[in-house]
Amino acid sequence: MREKSIPPLVTDEEVSHLLDVPSPKLEAAYQKGIVKKYQKRGLNAIQFRKGLGPVEAGTMVVKGEEIEVIRGFPKIRRTLMLHPALEKHFPREVAVEEKMNGYNVRIAQVDDRIVAFTRGGYICPYTSRKASQILNLDEFFQDYPQMVICGEMVGTMNPYVSHYYPEVGKLGFRIFDLREKLTNTPLPVMVKRELLADYQLEPVRLLGVFPVEEAPQKILGIVRELGKNDREGVVMKDPQMQLEPLKYTSSQAQAAELEYALSFPFDLAQAFLFSRIIREGFQSHETGESTDQLRERALRMGESILYPMLETIGKVEQGELAAEDLLIEVDSQEEAEEFIRHLRDLKVMATLAEIKDGKAVIRRIHQSTNDRINNYLDGGLY
Ligand code: ATP
Ligand code: MG
Repeated sequence: MREKSIPPLVTDEEVSHLLDVPSPKLEAAYQKGIVKKYQKRGLNAIQFRKGLGPVEAGTMVVKGEEIEVIRGFPKIRRTLMLHPALEKHFPREVAVEEKMNGYNVRIAQVDDRIVAFTRGGYICPYTSRKASQILNLDEFFQDYPQMVICGEMVGTMNPYVSHYYPEVGKLGFRIFDLREKLTNTPLPVMVKRELLADYQLEPVRLLGVFPVEEAPQKILGIVRELGKNDREGVVMKDPQMQLEPLKYTSSQAQAAELEYALSFPFDLAQAFLFSRIIREGFQSHETGESTDQLRERALRMGESILYPMLETIGKVEQGELAAEDLLIEVDSQEEAEEFIRHLRDLKVMATLAEIKDGKAVIRRIHQSTNDRINNYLDGGLY
């Protein structure tokens, strides 16, 4: 009943007009669950669970004093072979930024509030709290209320993608795009960097701007070095940001993802395995590596597949649960519980394992991995 008393934002003519999506199409998307009401954390909004025409997944239409549109962050496509792909894609120059391995966050000012959205358009209570602790955004948004700050939340103390960066440690935020609300138009690479510097906001690293003829060779070298330091890879951008960016990652990043996926083989491996193997095949081909380097890659791949799986089988045999522990910083038990409720909303099953020294251990259980390993250990057939 309560649902019905809420003004039907979805069928609002103004929304249809703003997004350039005809009303009936919007209505149909709403019926199909592509578009949903989002009434949480003081927000009256609609959320695009999937893309719809030109509107990206993760787009939020927020109804405050006026209607504001925070567009979803566009998907970045991947190159498998740098040489031909870059020449096809970029006419002159390529700006190479480091690709940071964390999770995507868009921050915007809505109705005098600063709100942090995760990839799908959700407001994560932990991310919101941490973003306001880590960043000083008031001045920026006073001057640029129409901008959306897009960046990566990185570090070990986060519940989504935990990765250690020596310059970050527990938690940090690195900005890779400044985009306009409603249109999603990004600022050119150098304009963005200068603006961020004016407000002491930290951008991702710019690793060089190269003529397209030199770019593939340079990038192969850069990515090899990044990989040696357990860093993920690069995003290659048109300096003017008029073309779509592309991404390319290190062999070590592929291995780390395989290792994670194979720790929970019956929950994650199928979705991960094929694409990571393909990336390694083309990277190995393009780098034209020596016999020794190739062997090293083969070993890394094999180890990252076999070892984590063996470890999990062993654990389950000992009666342990196949689960991953996520660490977050909290000031109270209520904060930890609020975060777990947020995960439940996302359909992620997790429990609070313990709170100690201001840190909550959130246990995410991988049920299929448990059940199936137990079954096979008992002689079940595959
Ligand atoms: P999706 O593309 O839907 O986000 P994905 O898991 O395939 O999903 P990634 O492979 O991590 O995404 O690559 C794209 C993401 O990389 C971006 O969404 C962004 O969060 C992150 N990223 C990190 N560094 C940069 C950067 N310098 N420029 C742009 N994006 C970056
Ligand atoms: Mg990522």
